[in-house]
Amino acid sequence: MAFQQNSRGGRPNQGRPQGGASRGFSGGGGGRSGGRRGGGSRGPAKKYINPAKFINKAIAKADEIPYAATHKFADFPFGAQLHHNIESKGYETPSAIQDQAIPHIIDGKDVIGLANTGTGKTAAFLLPIIERQSGITLRPSVLIMAPTRELAQQIDEEFRVFSRGLDLYSTLVVGGVNIDRQIRDLKRRPHVIIGTPGRLKDLMQRGVLQLKNMTTLVLDEADRMLDMGFLPDIRQIINEMPRERQTLFFSATITPEISALVNDFLHDPITVSVRTSETSEHVEQDVIEARDKQHKIELLEDMLKTAAYDKVLIFGETKFGVQRLSDHLDNVGIPSAAIHGNKNQSQRQRALKQFKDNRVKVLVATDVAARGLDIPNVSHVINFDTPQTYEDYTHRIGRTGRGGARGHAHTFIERR
Ligand code: AMP
Repeated sequence: MAFQQNSRGGRPNQGRPQGGASRGFSGGGGGRSGGRRGGGSRGPAKKYINPAKFINKAIAKADEIPYAATHKFADFPFGAQLHHNIESKGYETPSAIQDQAIPHIIDGKDVIGLANTGTGKTAAFLLPIIERQSGITLRPSVLIMAPTRELAQQIDEEFRVFSRGLDLYSTLVVGGVNIDRQIRDLKRRPHVIIGTPGRLKDLMQRGVLQLKNMTTLVLDEADRMLDMGFLPDIRQIINEMPRERQTLFFSATITPEISALVNDFLHDPITVSVRTSETSEHVEQDVIEARDKQHKIELLEDMLKTAAYDKVLIFGETKFGVQRLSDHLDNVGIPSAAIHGNKNQSQRQRALKQFKDNRVKVLVATDVAARGLDIPNVSHVINFDTPQTYEDYTHRIGRTGRGGARGHAHTFIERR
């Protein structure tokens, strides 16, 4: 699998010229600055997102430069089985974050990785961790914290693939599923514990999560964990860990709160930044103007009946709206799945799997439920409801156009 990345830095989209829309977007978005979105009947009015600021009708980049890795996987001092597993997974060359972070992680340094999802950061921390496990007798020794159940699950799945044949065990500790089983699993002393902060704290307080032998801590998508209000839990958990440890910290953004966390919990860290505009550079973006909600639904149905729309992730604002839209699509003969906070863990996993396995071509999601998900080959992202912030917009459209593929994003706006 070729893993192409854009090697240029900079924040996505900002200051870019605005492109027109290809479909029903009359008059361009440029004049629609300021003000609020129409409606105003439900809850506090949200900021109006001016499409002119973020829509970039991206053209496939002729000048795209694949990242030139300075290492080959073979250069990393991993055992034969781990090298074999990397190869079986289809990885040929290290991505930028892997190329730059793995040598420092192997050296035992604390690392701050500024990287978005889709950059290969999971393998960047998992591979050196797996390699180190072979010499470790005190277990568990690695704690990996992630903001959402789905992301934690994905990390666990990658761990299992990369550690195949190595006799290593992990336990997934997330909310929404039976805790007794997790307690039983933890008693079997896995090498690696992967979880979300709330459930980890719960287990710590019950005395079943032993942190005293931990040598390594990974905080994945730290900015998102803070956004979700996990800071107190994270602090409480880290305070129970030995001070002598290696801490690997991944975040797409650095805010003052993030810096404070880094200062408190990392020791003399090395920063590796691969934050690039790769997501939006690969994504052709349009706005689609609709008269009202009913019109949005009609336009959406037309699109989804087109063959090119073969794997479509639709974002809605509320749990109810997302479920309603998904039910409606089912009713008109477009099978879809939905993920949002009103679904329990196994329902979310089932929905995600149906989408990943191409059993439904549409997944409707809220922002929170879709955070950090790695779903290969999403052809289109559709913002059925406009995102709350530019950052959300960037995160949403980053679900398509991954790993060098071309993606499409459409954002509906209601004519005011
Ligand atoms: P991540 O940012 O860790 O969520 O990874 C994004 C996607 O890229 C996942 O599907 C990975 O399996 C894939 N990936 C990561 N590293 C590589 C690599 N070196 N070569 C090919 N694919 C990769």
